[in-house]
Amino acid sequence: MRVFVIGNAALDETLSITDFPQPGASIFGRLMSRDLGGKGLNQAVALARTGLDCTLTAAVGADGRGREIAARLASEPVAADLVSIADVGTDFSTILMTGDENAIITTREAATSLTPDQVRRALAPAQPGDLLVLQGNLTLAANQAALEMAQTRGMQSALNPSPLQDGFAPLWGLVHTAFVNEGEAEALGGIAALREAGVERVVLTLGDAGAALIDATGRIDAPAHPCDVVDTTGAGDCFMAVALASAALRRTALDARALDHASRAAAHTVGRPGTVTAFPDRAEMAAILAM
Ligand code: ATP
Repeated sequence: MRVFVIGNAALDETLSITDFPQPGASIFGRLMSRDLGGKGLNQAVALARTGLDCTLTAAVGADGRGREIAARLASEPVAADLVSIADVGTDFSTILMTGDENAIITTREAATSLTPDQVRRALAPAQPGDLLVLQGNLTLAANQAALEMAQTRGMQSALNPSPLQDGFAPLWGLVHTAFVNEGEAEALGGIAALREAGVERVVLTLGDAGAALIDATGRIDAPAHPCDVVDTTGAGDCFMAVALASAALRRTALDARALDHASRAAAHTVGRPGTVTAFPDRAEMAAILAM
């Protein structure tokens, strides 16, 4: 089985600050980490570190950040299909962290440059039973093209709609598994509305309160694994990737064990600084998935 992640790739710079700046203020910050990021890239790297055959398709600009992403990805087990787009800047995020809260500013010029045709080309080798993984950074047209192609090819599909945009409604009927946090669930009208729109199963993540899987058979709750919180960036992406991988590697549907594996992996991420560098490495991932 192959996994096709289509999404964004970015560089994350995390700044530690004392308080969020007021409009007009200049404040000091300390660089905590500079790391690979972008929801698509995060999910693809975590999926590949579980041992799955995973391809990431993402747009980058023809610039230094794009070259840095390509160079850093070369040491990851993911197959990187980076589409270089002239005249756009590679996407990046500035993450502002106080002790217990963060605020993230993300550019998406490159992500929204990926065209429906490029998406369809990326999925041309897909076979029935392969998995498509999407997030909210692409244009709706690109995500729709991916989901329609996945349906034609007999693929499974998983979508985390973050960052939320208007207009997802027509896409839900093409999504097998949705991952949403509490705020997203509320903004989308609730879990029941997603299920009525055609989503087979919904995973609701609840931060330090854990996660829940809701499908036709009912609801399974999974606690978070306790950890010292250092940096929560990417916890949701790591959780989604490991839940999907755990089920795929065991050739089963999402279950309580998949949620437990995902919670353990996300706790690793939360307990360390950075985004992708905070995810479990291949040895840690293997140990988690063996539990
Ligand atoms: P993000 O946008 O920061 O990536 P998210 O909002 O998509 O995250 P969350 O619900 O915050 O997702 O977190 C995803 C999972 O990460 C949770 O279900 C939980 O397993 C784990 N997690 C998050 N915060 C904590 C925490 N403080 N302690 C332990 N585990 C946590």
